[in-house]
Amino acid sequence: MRSSLILVLLCFLSPLMHAQDLKPCFFENTQERYGANQHLMDAVINNIDVGKVDTRQELVIPVVVHVVYRLDSEDIPDEQILEQIEVLNTAFSGESLTSAQVPKVFSSSSTAVNFQFCLADTDPSGLPTSGITRKEVELLNIGASSNLFYDDFGGKDAWDTDRYINIWVAETGGLFIGKASFPGVDPKPEQGIVMDVNFFGGLKSLSGTGSFDEGKTLVHEMGHYFGLEHLWGSDLSDCSSEDGIADTPKTGSTYLNTCLDQSFSCGSTDMTGNYMMYTSDACLHYFTKGQKERMRLILAQYRSDLLSTNTNCDSGFNQEDAFSLKKIQSGPNGILFGLHGPIDPSKAQALLYDTKGCLLWNKEVSSLEQFYLPMQERAFGMYFLVVSTGEELISERIVWY
Ligand SMILES: [Zn+2]
Repeated sequence: MRSSLILVLLCFLSPLMHAQDLKPCFFENTQERYGANQHLMDAVINNIDVGKVDTRQELVIPVVVHVVYRLDSEDIPDEQILEQIEVLNTAFSGESLTSAQVPKVFSSSSTAVNFQFCLADTDPSGLPTSGITRKEVELLNIGASSNLFYDDFGGKDAWDTDRYINIWVAETGGLFIGKASFPGVDPKPEQGIVMDVNFFGGLKSLSGTGSFDEGKTLVHEMGHYFGLEHLWGSDLSDCSSEDGIADTPKTGSTYLNTCLDQSFSCGSTDMTGNYMMYTSDACLHYFTKGQKERMRLILAQYRSDLLSTNTNCDSGFNQEDAFSLKKIQSGPNGILFGLHGPIDPSKAQALLYDTKGCLLWNKEVSSLEQFYLPMQERAFGMYFLVVSTGEELISERIVWY
């Protein structure tokens, strides 16, 4: 990411940087609305242009996490957010697909979705950002009401919901642990995902909190956000309803809080390990090829502006830039970077800032093609590395985790 002098000003602009069952998920409630508007649901599912999507390509999708807290304990740290994003990416990259985790009967239908979710590095105004906003609020259980989505009602306004996936993390009073907007249904300012703060993170931060302690609720909600239904469809009472996906079998149970390898209903083996079930987190491991196609079609048809947001997840050299920075290797004590392009040897230096924009470290990098950024005493979290060539500044977001 190339930027101007904006970053060094951030010390003075730090407010910019700060700012169901018990149902596992809220989808049933929205499903009732679909029931009343079945034509809308049909339109979403059927009016999609299959030619718009290439299922082989990895797609980078920007997210912003709004931490909306009433209690200090709800103001969760950056590393908990990063852990959650990593869980999300592990699920969508297919890293969780090992033969040990996917029953043989489903090994050929399970697949990587190839979405990579990335905390936004540029906010809607074009300023560098950590992709995380924080706001203290007064309303009890604000996550359970639509006040959450509006500054004017004591909540937090979304960033442009066409260009960013907005994830609000707040207390819900136990009404649900996660809920998501089905494409084309909620008003634009409310499009996104709401997560109960007690279920947002990963095994490190949620361990001991029960069945949903590995951060897979957000994976499930992201499935809804991209148009997936539960495998049982809208009705559990018999085997007549389903999710409209060809390679997910009908099921007569949610498998809430269970961890069965295999079980049977509706005349076939159930996908207890599919992310769109209510199975315990420890046993959720895969999406199917049909679910992948549905999500990518929904992305192409209803959420394609997400792909137009300029977001840089990694730090590869940008060939269009005369000068660029690349992470070569990350170790337990720091990160090795390479520099590429012309550098004024008398003026070049590297500087490390925290997310408040305060300088933590700097080093002359005049004649170096590589330099080492020591991180062993730094807290886990997000930082900005800036390299100045004398003429130009280049900044890179560092996630130390
Ligand atoms: Zn759900």
